Amino acid sequence: MKALVVDPGVAHSTRVEDVDEPTGDGVLLRMLEVGVCGTDREISEGVFGVAPDGEQHLVIGHESLAEVARDGNGFSKGDLVCATVRRSCGHCLPCGEGAPDSCLTGDYSERGITRLDGFARELVLEQPEHLIRIPGSLGRLGVLAEPTSICTRGVRHAITIGARQPWEPKRALVTGAGAVGLLSTMLLRLEGFDVWTASLEPSSAIADALGAHYVSTKTTDLADLGPFDIVVEAAGNAQLMLDALGLLGRSGVACLLGIDGHDGKAHIDNKVIGVDAVLENRVLFGSVNAHHDDWVTGVEALDRARRQFPGALEELIGLRVPLDRFSEAFAYQGGKATLMLDA
Ligand code: BGC
Repeated sequence: MKALVVDPGVAHSTRVEDVDEPTGDGVLLRMLEVGVCGTDREISEGVFGVAPDGEQHLVIGHESLAEVARDGNGFSKGDLVCATVRRSCGHCLPCGEGAPDSCLTGDYSERGITRLDGFARELVLEQPEHLIRIPGSLGRLGVLAEPTSICTRGVRHAITIGARQPWEPKRALVTGAGAVGLLSTMLLRLEGFDVWTASLEPSSAIADALGAHYVSTKTTDLADLGPFDIVVEAAGNAQLMLDALGLLGRSGVACLLGIDGHDGKAHIDNKVIGVDAVLENRVLFGSVNAHHDDWVTGVEALDRARRQFPGALEELIGLRVPLDRFSEAFAYQGGKATLMLDA
């Protein structure tokens, strides 16, 4: 059967190859669609990713949507599901408590990223406890479950951190209008926040459809819009990450979801870190991966957003191509690009 494989550490080695069908216990899944994100692009560039032990190549893809292929393990043939990404390291407290998203050792594995094959293949075997049900009403939009789970964790942590003291958050800023920025915008809007979404582009029809105020950073100084109770940085720019601390108001919380691995230095005004952050009880934190509960909450949120903001999520998936046209999906600069395994 066909799979999208890469030799980790080797740039541009991504290719479609024949691989063996999976054997063993678990729920057999017929993959429908796999989303592509910045992490997949980094793996494809040879700067990230680890092959399974003893293997040379890694099957890529961690944003999954599948159909159960046969009855069993509490699932029926045809059920729509997606699978979580991170697996326990087996020897730390959070992993022992079912929270590998908070792993303390870094010895976790991740489907399609680190030491475990991913989902860009026609058939997959997965253990039932790693599967999340996708309601039929959500349909193919279920492919957004993984990036939504990342944003759900980030927003949940921001609200939990903020709520350590009496707090009345109302205004939020999201920097970046890619999939993670727009899905964070969606979640904050569902939570009742007044949201500003900022990016380089002149406009964003999706941010508008989500009821956010879209601003272009080319023409607007974000400092003129603040202060904010919550900032989510989803542009993956280290300078914007530090700037977030200066855009917060009293008791404000900034959550970093993007990644910026460039060499160089980011700068911050002494008084922002040395005075304002202290005197105004501000917090800047990073968040990665997602707890099983975030997946469930995220899928529910997607289904609510589908009804509350008609058309916005459909628009967010800007490109769908069959597996062998993967290079188009990797080059896509709009919202979310996906690979269709059933095309
Ligand atoms: C994935 C996460 C993963 C992280 C680090 C992200 O792209 O969405 O699930 O934990 O990469 O590997």
